[in-house]
Amino acid sequence: MSAKIIDGREIAARMRAELKTEIEKLKTQGIVPGLAVILVGDDPASKSYVTAKEKACEEIGIYSDDNRLPAETSQEQLLELIIEKNSDPKIHGILVQLPLPKHIDDSAVLLAINPSKDVDGFHPVNIGKMVADKKAFLPCTPHGIIQLLIRSGVKLDGAHVVIVGRSNIVGKPLANMLIQKSPTGNATVTICHTRTKNLADHTRRADIIIAAAGRPNTITDDMVREGSVVVDVGVNRVEDKTKKAGYRLVGDVDFEKVKKKASLITTVPGGVGPMTITMLLYNTVESAKMTAR
Ligand code: NAP
Repeated sequence: MSAKIIDGREIAARMRAELKTEIEKLKTQGIVPGLAVILVGDDPASKSYVTAKEKACEEIGIYSDDNRLPAETSQEQLLELIIEKNSDPKIHGILVQLPLPKHIDDSAVLLAINPSKDVDGFHPVNIGKMVADKKAFLPCTPHGIIQLLIRSGVKLDGAHVVIVGRSNIVGKPLANMLIQKSPTGNATVTICHTRTKNLADHTRRADIIIAAAGRPNTITDDMVREGSVVVDVGVNRVEDKTKKAGYRLVGDVDFEKVKKKASLITTVPGGVGPMTITMLLYNTVESAKMTAR
């Protein structure tokens, strides 16, 4: 068997086209969805993520409010900017690119964002609502993974999903979303981490494996049951002298071997990544729609 590829770029493009249509409709009501993007410092990876997010906004008609602050910005100055954006009617979503410089407390900053503009879904109010299955901004990467699966025809209802990784941005929220009593949930979930004994015993029993460990080759072919669905969230740089940059990106899954056993599989890049940005756009449009009601 050779797995069918779940094409994240294609699914993301379809979702962005749907959002563009919704934005055009909002514009006829005088509403332009607006996203404030805040970057502190000049970390190259963060800069490229922020640029990609701003470009994606512009492509579908979201107003992107670019705020690039120097690394020495104080926590107070950053909080002042967030307070200003909280009350700016042109802004429907606020995104603070993480990680922040060490002298700034991430949690204080995330808490300062008005939960009704927290399009990253990291504010405790939105996390609480998500766990209680109330309407909330869902965190972008796990929500993107669920959309990838649903839009690829994968049945979540009753499926056994094994998630490798328990971080606050991927593993934990994803597990919560998958166990909800809803058409996009109803799965049975096992969460694994570095203290899990015999990881392969769990992954071999999975209908769906979601690898979010941040370590190449965490999932090898002997750990995968024939016909299972494999989603690779990991993004890892491995040295590659044949590349201009001196490295290439790989996921957490031994793709070449695992694809011979899986029925469906994502690639890195081109799988989960494009969906993460798409769900940020989705949350911004949802927020703008709420002001239209
Ligand atoms: P993280 O905070 O470092 O968490 C990694 C998790 O994996 C931890 O819970 C850790 O267990 C677990 N883990 C690590 N090695 C393991 C192993 N050998 N066996 C079992 N569990 C293991 O990472 P993250 O922020 O969740 O991100 C995970 C990966 O996804 C990274 O490569 C990141 O770059 C990527 N990512 C991609 C996107 C995207 O849009 N494509 C978005 C977010 C993240 P412990 O808790 O016990 O330490």
